[in-house]
Amino acid sequence: MSFTSSSPVHPHARNLGPAHIGMMHRQIPKNFCKWKHAQVVDERPDPKGRFVVTNNSFPPGTVLLQEQPFIKSLHHSYRYSHCTFCFLPVKKPIHCRRSGCSWPLVFCSTACENENWETGIHSWLCQFPETQQWDDDILLALDGYTKARINWKSGTDLIALSDLVSNLEHHPQTQISEYRAKAKEIASLFYLSEHAVDSLVLIQAQIRCNSFCIQHTASAVSDSLISQMSDSLGKGVYLSASRLNHDCSPNAVVTFGQEDTPSLLVVRSTQTVTGAGENVSISYGPMAVKHPLVERRRLLNDHYFFECQCKSCLPSAEVTGESIYLCQQCPLGRLYRLQPNCPICKSCTEWRIIEDQEKEIEGYIRKGKFEIALECQERIYDKEAYPIGRTVDELARVYAMQGVFGLSAKYSSRSLGIVQRTFGMSSLEAAEEMMKTMQSRNKRNIKETLDQINATQKLYRQLGLDQQKTQDSNELNDMKGFFSQKKN
Ligand SMILES: [Zn+2]
Ligand SMILES: [Zn+2]
Ligand SMILES: [Zn+2]
Ligand SMILES: [Zn+2]
Repeated sequence: MSFTSSSPVHPHARNLGPAHIGMMHRQIPKNFCKWKHAQVVDERPDPKGRFVVTNNSFPPGTVLLQEQPFIKSLHHSYRYSHCTFCFLPVKKPIHCRRSGCSWPLVFCSTACENENWETGIHSWLCQFPETQQWDDDILLALDGYTKARINWKSGTDLIALSDLVSNLEHHPQTQISEYRAKAKEIASLFYLSEHAVDSLVLIQAQIRCNSFCIQHTASAVSDSLISQMSDSLGKGVYLSASRLNHDCSPNAVVTFGQEDTPSLLVVRSTQTVTGAGENVSISYGPMAVKHPLVERRRLLNDHYFFECQCKSCLPSAEVTGESIYLCQQCPLGRLYRLQPNCPICKSCTEWRIIEDQEKEIEGYIRKGKFEIALECQERIYDKEAYPIGRTVDELARVYAMQGVFGLSAKYSSRSLGIVQRTFGMSSLEAAEEMMKTMQSRNKRNIKETLDQINATQKLYRQLGLDQQKTQDSNELNDMKGFFSQKKN
């Protein structure tokens, strides 16, 4: 491969020795991981392309894949609290080996610092403080480029993250120009060829269409209740998991992390699979139960450049899937948003009025007036509709904080019922809600409480949350110990 400079030479490039220009990894990065109970089917050039199907039958909670990222980057808000290499929280920070290093990064151990130096791009960037201005995505792309280059057979093909889809042809021109501008900046600093610039454009597009948010659980103690929030620790590209197609009502779920490996991705089934040949799917974000069809279309198209053809997105599905509005004329009619006539009494609904009421409800929720919001919601939504679930969940939280455990328990069990019906009994959402219910209820009935603890623990194990949310697991164990003793 040639590294003739076709871009204007960056002023710092003169200081570069051959070692920098070499930019070669000393270790072969991990490639694909093997699926269990499932396999990848390749039907290209069919538009559906590649997807994952089951090999046999298995129950919900079955692990189908465990994979480390090919490339990953820690979100900048964690740069001083978490190890740049392994993503674990840092107790005693270890800094970069180069004393003049001004990069905002810390490591949990010298081993991680060493691995990062040997296998990542920091050893090249360390001396160029101005590259700190580059955004996370272009740095991730550069990391991907250097890693992918190891397996690259020299020729005219661009260097890319394996054969992951890029949908480059569907990206808006302005986006591609942005990719190219960033790639050129890198090229000018490191004496890279036009071929490398093209490769970096392609890799940025691949990252956009294939990266996963690496979720982690941060705990924040608020008054008496421990509220858990999931947020994104960083971003990663997983070559095997990228084979999973999207479905708005998926049959598998992705979770991240086990005690000492926060970026480990695990794919688990959430439904019973009855045999071979079933499609394994996850949600890329939008879910039929949370987002209306129009919104799902927009999200998937804006971000991933495809139109979803899953069962929930078929025209007929809209009628059954999202009919959460009450008919204002008859007691039994249920309508989906903007449906012109009630399917039962055929009367017309004034959607403008309903929309005004929804705006009013939003206002109450923003101000924390959940009781009034609920009253208004019950006038326009079915009592099991998801928006009502969200409000009763808030009410459960508020009452738990005030120590009014009776009301809190009432609302939280209503919320749990709605979540279980909406997302399924063995969904991540149901597990989260069960945990909340445990934390907010008044535990007078010992047997009932123990049953609930057991059910929560079982679902946590099924979804791998016992490994990911260790704080919850410990809390459940403590509760179990406490109530078992009381029982005897
Ligand atoms: Zn580390
Ligand atoms: Zn450094
Ligand atoms: Zn869909
Ligand atoms: Zn009606």
